[in-house]
Amino acid sequence: MGHPLLRDVARPLQPDEIGTPATSRLIADMVDTLHDYGGIGLAAPQIGESVRLAIIEIAGGPTRYGELGPMPLTVFINPVIEVLNPAPRGYWEGCLSVPGLRGYVERPQHVMIRYTSDRGESRELELQGFFATVFQHEFDHLDGKLYVDRLSDTRLLAFEREFERYLLPQEEAAP
Ligand code: ZN
Repeated sequence: MGHPLLRDVARPLQPDEIGTPATSRLIADMVDTLHDYGGIGLAAPQIGESVRLAIIEIAGGPTRYGELGPMPLTVFINPVIEVLNPAPRGYWEGCLSVPGLRGYVERPQHVMIRYTSDRGESRELELQGFFATVFQHEFDHLDGKLYVDRLSDTRLLAFEREFERYLLPQEEAAP
């Protein structure tokens, strides 16, 4: 956070760039970075490339948001979001570009995304709840936005240690 590139609107990837060695190298670097830091998503601007490309990988299993189906590592090129239900749902978000912090952000809870795969195919995906939030967070990076811009209450921004000590127990106690 603070690097100007994280605040730029990234450029679309051109069709003839998809599948090239340079793009494959960028994706491989992003996968390495995601695995090194243990995140669930990463956008190209976060590693210094201002192009509209993001990767997401979510291990399935029980979480505090219920049982999540896994999402294997997937590459999203030039994604577009359509909101299907604007009713907000809030989650505690973290970001590899804003290390050590968690913040509570409310976003539309039901979206459709359209994107190009790393093989150049057009795809779409309908997402709800936690998954809808993850995708909106990652794709915000392509428009120069960070989750801290979307906090509706700055008192709900915390260091991870304090989040785990004070805020997470409250969240788990909530109905
Ligand atoms: Zn992020």
